[in-house]
Amino acid sequence: MAADIAGLTVVWAYRRTGKFAFHVLTGALETDARTASVPIEFANGVDAVVAAVRTALAAPTARVLVGWSFYSPDFPQMRAELHAVKAKIDDPRVVHVVGGVHAAAEPEATLRAGWQFAAIGEGERLVRDLVLCVQAGGDLRTVPGIAFLDGPSLRKNGRAERIALDEFPPFGPGHDRFGPIEITRGCIYACRFCQTPYFAGANFRHRSVANVRHWARYLVGRGFRDFRFLTPTSLSYGTFAPEPDLAAVEALLAGVREEIGPTRNLWFGTFPSEVRPEHITDASLRLLRKWVSNRALIVGGQSGSDRVLAASARGHDSACIERAVALCVEHGFVPHVDFLLGLPSEEPSDVDATLQLMDRLVARGGKVHGHTFLPLPGTPFRKAPPGALTDDVRRRLRQLASKGQLYGQWEQQEATAQQMAAARNLTS
Ligand code: SF4
Repeated sequence: MAADIAGLTVVWAYRRTGKFAFHVLTGALETDARTASVPIEFANGVDAVVAAVRTALAAPTARVLVGWSFYSPDFPQMRAELHAVKAKIDDPRVVHVVGGVHAAAEPEATLRAGWQFAAIGEGERLVRDLVLCVQAGGDLRTVPGIAFLDGPSLRKNGRAERIALDEFPPFGPGHDRFGPIEITRGCIYACRFCQTPYFAGANFRHRSVANVRHWARYLVGRGFRDFRFLTPTSLSYGTFAPEPDLAAVEALLAGVREEIGPTRNLWFGTFPSEVRPEHITDASLRLLRKWVSNRALIVGGQSGSDRVLAASARGHDSACIERAVALCVEHGFVPHVDFLLGLPSEEPSDVDATLQLMDRLVARGGKVHGHTFLPLPGTPFRKAPPGALTDDVRRRLRQLASKGQLYGQWEQQEATAQQMAAARNLTS
């Protein structure tokens, strides 16, 4: 029997950068008979959140759960938005809960910024538990995975249980909210700058081929023509170790292709996911050529310095990046190589090595996607100095950009890195 949850509305503080997380949470609520009928509003920006909450509060037995989720660089803006919402509506029937990688890594600072509860860990089960708890008139502090402030002290009620991907939809189809199909969660590589393994675990959990096919078939039925996948490392599908399992990758791609037919687009190893350079081989590229629609591949490179790569625990060297790019071009792919500038311990000679590698990759037919290092909460590099570029490096990067050989948010990220470090220094 469906539970009576009349009176509760969920309002997502819905921003572009975190929207797929909300789609997944929506799917989790839709697919549990106990929570499927709770109204969900997608409210983009302060005015929309305020309007959605006001409308919900008009119901006689109203309760509103406002859900927030964001990445670390967006913390200052989202904190300002929370304050703006609370300045307009400060009602005890409204509860603000924040989740996502930033809240999980920095629960105390996040709660001190004004959220009442922080979700620690994965949200699919937790969001159901929260809704059921509100419905039962329970105490949200007892929900597994919830953190809160008890006077001056942080209290954590454990960590939300990690889920099996097959048990949840990859998006919220009942609300027409779609996104890439998440095929793998967690990452065994544990690169020291990356939040993924520290949030989702340093191992792989894969969605089964049958389940991916089910959702691909569903999307075909809904008229979609483009099929994308979310994974930390595309060619790790089906494996639990560093070595790719190409038979598993082929079973996935062939199965999806069978569902979507020859004319729809199957995007793999490109946005929003990438490929590790050591996974790029003749065999893996032949397999991709056979099944995928993209002719661009996003390759994780990060640095041209072997010393910096080793210090970041990347698990490959710079020669591996160069070899991968050459192979991609040979097989008719355009490699777009991600680089992180300003990584900890980087010396001028390391920066030179990176810039020289960029030049060689571009000469071979690759493109460079430039980022500046952000000291992300929850990672081993969280206390490192923010990524900073010299005038000479900026000039050389702009030269590459002016020729269409480099793109990315590296300039804005340098400013963001400074802001994050300043905020960190204030709270530590
Ligand atoms: S950077 Fe990529 S390979 Fe490294 S830990 Fe993060 S997701 Fe895994």
